[in-house]
Amino acid sequence: MNHPAAVPAIPTLATSPLTRTDPQLAALLAEEEARQRFKIRLIASENYASSAVREASSSVITNQYSEGYPGARYYEGQQIVDQVERLAIARAKALFGAEHVNVQAHSGSPANLAVYLAFLKPGDTVLGMQLAHGGHLTHGSKASITGKYWNIVSYGLDPQTKLLDYASIRELALQHKPRLIIAGHSAYPRQLDFAAFRAIADEVGAILMVDMAHFAGLVAGGAHPSPVPYADVVTTTTHKSLRGPRGAIVMCRAEHAAKIDKAVFPGLQGGPHNAITAAIAVTLQEALRPEFATYAGQCVANARALAHGLLDHGFNLVTGGTDNHLVLVDLRNKGIAGKPLAAALDRAGLVTNYNAVPWDEQPPQNPSGLRLGSPSMTTRGFHEAEFRRIADWIARVVDSGLDDKVIAEIAVETQALCAGFPMP
Ligand SMILES: *Cc1c(COP(=O)(O)O)cnc(C)c1O
Repeated sequence: MNHPAAVPAIPTLATSPLTRTDPQLAALLAEEEARQRFKIRLIASENYASSAVREASSSVITNQYSEGYPGARYYEGQQIVDQVERLAIARAKALFGAEHVNVQAHSGSPANLAVYLAFLKPGDTVLGMQLAHGGHLTHGSKASITGKYWNIVSYGLDPQTKLLDYASIRELALQHKPRLIIAGHSAYPRQLDFAAFRAIADEVGAILMVDMAHFAGLVAGGAHPSPVPYADVVTTTTHKSLRGPRGAIVMCRAEHAAKIDKAVFPGLQGGPHNAITAAIAVTLQEALRPEFATYAGQCVANARALAHGLLDHGFNLVTGGTDNHLVLVDLRNKGIAGKPLAAALDRAGLVTNYNAVPWDEQPPQNPSGLRLGSPSMTTRGFHEAEFRRIADWIARVVDSGLDDKVIAEIAVETQALCAGFPMP
């Protein structure tokens, strides 16, 4: 990393025990902090957790084992951690209105696997969104355990509009009678119709799971409809738009509580990561504040400004725009693939990821799309004007044919903009 003069001394690291005991690792973390500080981060699944969240996530409570659940542990010494976990659960209930909450799943993928374990036998049929159209690996990809142990039927998008086609999802459900239907995505730039999913699940007697990993922060802030009233079970990561530590929450109707808890522990895991539980509690308290609703609304406004900027520069967007926190660019009319563009943008100080677009002719290792998200830079205080500039920079990089001189110019500009927007 090369951040001449611009890198301030980072006092917390410079004086920390880590710097004394492991200067090599401390130096790497300082470089990572500089990277996060001086680049415009547009990975749709990332964010900046607050210092309070990070403090809780590395606190002494990490020293403790606490297999089981509050009031029902297998170890002594649970006086405090029980209160911490109950606090996290109570705040999740207050924020999302869920009847039952489990905060122990170590991350989004294990949370989803816990739902499979709770409701399914190996070989049962699951209807989920195709990975290539924006679903997640854990919604039944062959590369995931979910695609190996269960019978997966995948739904996709309408070939014309690239929107979810609820009539065809219903057809598939009627034909295959899934035990579990999964709604949710990692790369779909539109809101979901949870009532439509509920109606389909009811018609075929399926359990409805909504995986809101990507857009949980928008739900928390009132910028996206909530799936909680519709779904039997809702899973989410805590580190994406929700802006917490790397972890997960599983919420469900009271009738499924015992099944879900048993699936997480002892079904899949041993002891919970207590420091993460503590950090989740802090995250949820932050998300209950009015400022969080402002942030969530701004995430959507910023993604929309980015989309409009890109459309003005002649980019094609999957579904033509966005109404959540992410934009999926289809680069095929620009004669450039996602991977070399993402690499060039990173050199220009714009961190993105290459992504498949629906019906991509190119392989997933070098697909035709680019995924962009607004949460990280919204957290840092970017508004529509800054997101318009991002669209302009992306267009300049593409129009230059990934020219090194243009990229170097833009790198200076992006770094200068970042300097005005401190990271937490
Ligand atoms: C990110 C994501 C997950 C998985 O989360 P990990 O914490 O990376 O395991 C699950 N589902 C969806 C829809 C996601 O976007």
